Amino acid sequence: MSEKVKDLRGTRLSAADLESKDTITFRGRPNAKYAWSAGIAYTKYLEELKNGRIVGRRCRQCDRVLVPPRMFCEQCFRATDEWVYVKGTGKINTYSISYLDADANRIKTPILVAVVDLDGASPGIGILHKLGNVDIEKIHVGMPVQAVWKPTNEREGSVTDILYFEPIKEE
Ligand SMILES: [Zn+2]
Repeated sequence: MSEKVKDLRGTRLSAADLESKDTITFRGRPNAKYAWSAGIAYTKYLEELKNGRIVGRRCRQCDRVLVPPRMFCEQCFRATDEWVYVKGTGKINTYSISYLDADANRIKTPILVAVVDLDGASPGIGILHKLGNVDIEKIHVGMPVQAVWKPTNEREGSVTDILYFEPIKEE
């Protein structure tokens, strides 16, 4: 256990002090650079998105198809076995209608996001993406949706090569 510090050095500042102009403040943008290796599975996933295809990995032991693909099955503790292409269609597993943007500002047109269980992937294995072309009153769990892709020449090997998922008419 650490002892409580009783003698704090320096001067405590409140938000009002910082806004008062009586204190010196500095705003800057750090020139931070970082790199991230996508790894074997995710690299293939991104490359295939550029080709307009969604690829996963099958584990033959539990017979699950993992999307996005992973080279290792976390349930069986073994390497996955083969690449499997899944469809750009699926069903909404869960969704959110957000009236706050990424900076927590209130917005009038909500951002619609859903976890979509893709046809061909195992149940409960879904990808998180935006919904579009959808009446928000009609969104529901189990709603059939399909991927709407960017034009071929605009794809860059990113999950945003899928613009959004839109409803498929239910029969
Ligand atoms: Zn497995």
